[in-house]
Amino acid sequence: MKRLEGKTALVTGAARGIGLEIAMAFAAEGAAVAVADLSQQDCAAAAAEIAGKTGAKAIGLGLDVSKEADCERAIEETIAAFGKVDILVNNAGITRDGLVLRMKEADFDAVMDVNLKGAFLMAKAAAKPMLKARAGRIINISSVVGQSGQAGQANYSASKAGLIGLTKSLAREFAPRQVLVNAVAPGFIRTRMTEGLKDEAKTKIYEMIPLGRMGEPGEVAKAALFLAGDDSAYITGQVLAVNGGLYM
Ligand code: NAP
Repeated sequence: MKRLEGKTALVTGAARGIGLEIAMAFAAEGAAVAVADLSQQDCAAAAAEIAGKTGAKAIGLGLDVSKEADCERAIEETIAAFGKVDILVNNAGITRDGLVLRMKEADFDAVMDVNLKGAFLMAKAAAKPMLKARAGRIINISSVVGQSGQAGQANYSASKAGLIGLTKSLAREFAPRQVLVNAVAPGFIRTRMTEGLKDEAKTKIYEMIPLGRMGEPGEVAKAALFLAGDDSAYITGQVLAVNGGLYM
């Protein structure tokens, strides 16, 4: 029996990177998946790839997670396509790095809007059907720098720390209806977000990671899969670090 047979999931920021790996892993375990991302075209391509590789049902949904109407429509369209929404993964995220003294207010706001407000809006939209169903999983993709802080990423690390607070508050609010809310905090993972790093910076990072290498998107997907399935039925309000030991 596949681990997510009969389940439906919506993953944001799923056209590429970690989100695509999560959607692919869920589909491989039998879930019908809604691939939600900024570009409708990229979503449709990712959904077709997922359906082709796994045989699972997959749809693409263009949305901007920082817009409430888009989030509500994405949940409605997922329910229209699959009948329900069991799992929400808030994975969409952006960076606008810079030292604080040079960071523009717009760069702070943009990162907060997508990374933190986006997760709040999606969770709010998904909570209505989940609370009614008295079942559901919400998984927020935070970051190691939300736990440790990071020079040059005040906006990003604040948004990711905020996500941990949001996770714990949602977990407390929704627990009476059996809706479980957890976070995954990845370390340095090989995606477009990190590929721009210079070799010198990468070497320095490897030296700081006890396991001595970057992580792969599939390794984050496995943690999300655990938190989405029955094996984590007694876990809520937690942060699962997938960081090679970088922060303990
Ligand atoms: P990625 O490759 O840049 O993918 C992020 C996806 O989110 C992109 O497809 C992007 O769309 C989409 N997105 C951006 N703004 C959006 C919005 N307003 N509405 C909907 N979708 C939006 O990044 P990744 O490395 O896979 O990261 C995925 C998540 O993991 C992020 O939350 C990130 O902060 C977190 N994370 C990553 C690492 C790492 O080392 N890579 C470490 C810790 C945490 P476009 O491509 O069209 O812009």
